[in-house]
Amino acid sequence: MRIVALEEHFNVPRVVAGIPADAVARRGFPGPDFVWAQTTKRNELADLGEARIADMDANGIATQVLSVAGPGADLVPGQTGVDLARAYNDALAEGCTRHPTRLRGFAHLPLLSPDAAARELHRAVTDLGFHGVLVNGATDGRFLDDPIFEPVLAEAERLDLPIYLHPGIPTQPVRNAYYDNLPGNFSFTLALSAWGWHYDTAIHVLRLVLSGALDRHPGLKIVVGHMGEALPFMMDRIDETTTAQAKTLLRRSVRQTIVDQVWITTSGFFTMVPFVSALLAFGVDRIMFSVDYPFASNARARAFLDSLPVSPADREKIAHGNADRLLRLTA
Ligand code: ZN
Repeated sequence: MRIVALEEHFNVPRVVAGIPADAVARRGFPGPDFVWAQTTKRNELADLGEARIADMDANGIATQVLSVAGPGADLVPGQTGVDLARAYNDALAEGCTRHPTRLRGFAHLPLLSPDAAARELHRAVTDLGFHGVLVNGATDGRFLDDPIFEPVLAEAERLDLPIYLHPGIPTQPVRNAYYDNLPGNFSFTLALSAWGWHYDTAIHVLRLVLSGALDRHPGLKIVVGHMGEALPFMMDRIDETTTAQAKTLLRRSVRQTIVDQVWITTSGFFTMVPFVSALLAFGVDRIMFSVDYPFASNARARAFLDSLPVSPADREKIAHGNADRLLRLTA
């Protein structure tokens, strides 16, 4: 069975080193003891070659679609941000060229300069052969429904390739109000991987729906990871409570907009309760396998894929069929 994984990460230490430390700290990235600064993870993130491919081979993963994790060009304004994004994308393209069937790319964008970001997305797809774009949470406190990002949404729609909405660190006021003053490392963990960034990402999707951005861009395709970032569980409630206003303010119900334009992946979620919820809410044609490598284990994700209570044909859709079609991976 061909297996494709979509939320797989890399970083380029020499490019990260070019991001001003105060911009990194302002976004809330922790110091050098955090996961993408640890030696092992950094090496795994930085490796676009043998060790990454060996781990994929050991678990039968044919292709990883790679995206930047950690501090990125979206922290840096002006030409410097534009240059950093190009450096990330060029480094990834080099790795993909060395392993053309194994490694593919999502574009990384200088989102503080939306017009340049749209141009970089166009370059990354048409010149570098990438398959869409991944965005790490809010940019300077703004989600993609903000009108300044219109050029990026329009370009992704024109290219007919998805925007992957990945979690980012919640903004400072949100962290202060919701997550501060807990013992040990709980504030940080609750704000990020335990809870906060999943709900932040669900809100990112809902803002795109409720603002009318997805109505304005009906061809735009959105992907979220982590088994739908809690949307499967909350979908009925959101739909019921917005029905009346949606009739006057939107072209479709919230649920219809989401199932028309949003795909989800299994990244980092390898248990049955959220999968069954996702299957019931989104259907098998909208679920795609992902690992979240190197933050999650290829072996665990593969074992979970093999254990899914679905037919062989549906397992093929989740493993590669849906992604091949959405990202035009085999074209
Ligand atoms: Zn991830």
